[in-house]
Amino acid sequence: MGNKSKDENMEYHGTCYCGTVEVVVTGRPTASGFCHCHSCRKWHSAPINAFSIWPKDKVKITGDLIASNKDPVSERMTCSKCGGCLANGKPTLNMVAVYSQTLADSGFKYVPDFHIFYDERVIDIADGLPKFNDLPETFGGSGNQVNEPERSGWV
Ligand SMILES: [Zn+2]
Ligand SMILES: [Zn+2]
Repeated sequence: MGNKSKDENMEYHGTCYCGTVEVVVTGRPTASGFCHCHSCRKWHSAPINAFSIWPKDKVKITGDLIASNKDPVSERMTCSKCGGCLANGKPTLNMVAVYSQTLADSGFKYVPDFHIFYDERVIDIADGLPKFNDLPETFGGSGNQVNEPERSGWV
């Protein structure tokens, strides 16, 4: 707030687990959230995935990557050496979702806006954030939300 132009030019850097692949993003993300989808769960081997998403031209990734083409709406990028998860290209949105913790060491502050694909969850998070059955309408989803759970915990 009050210093928007500075935020827009701010760069945040990160690397994969082994440091071979570098990620640089410019400016604050369009949105941040937690994804509960089955695909992210398999990819990260974690119950949820914390992501931030930028327009494609604000994300630069350099180094040897493996890109999964398992489905046409996701291009999941991992380091070819360590297998560390870095980013998920969204060609139909012309955006790239970056795994937020990749950028954490460069001062990037992750501020989640909502939960997505909450219908596929294995864990409830009672944090008061909107919980979309699939996606917000601005990202091509139904925009439908589920009720806030009474408590956090394994479903
Ligand atoms: Zn690596
Ligand atoms: Zn997901």
